[in-house]
Amino acid sequence: MKRLSTEQLLSINKFSVDDEAKHIILDRQICGRCESKPCRFACPAGLYSIKDGEISFDPVGCLECGTCRVVCSHPGAITWQYPRGGFGVIYRYG
Ligand code: SF4
Ligand code: SF4
Repeated sequence: MKRLSTEQLLSINKFSVDDEAKHIILDRQICGRCESKPCRFACPAGLYSIKDGEISFDPVGCLECGTCRVVCSHPGAITWQYPRGGFGVIYRYG
């Protein structure tokens, strides 16, 4: 059986963004005091990055795994909840 790459595995999902109720909200002030920003390296979908010197999060592609919440050691930096019904990660071919 042929093994798929991480990129190929991620491509079989799609994510429906709920613009009215974001499932991950960052506190920019707290994140600004975080030096190592481990969320950038821990998110399996690579959704955290640095833009204009600040942490940036792109919800498209989120796997709802919760890893970013676990690795973040700054209380209150991440407000995390599962997306509402009908939103979030969906199997593309389901
Ligand atoms: S979400 Fe947590 S780990 Fe990521 S930059 Fe903010 S404080 Fe740091
Ligand atoms: S829940 Fe998982 S996939 Fe989504 S942003 Fe956090 S670490 Fe990345």
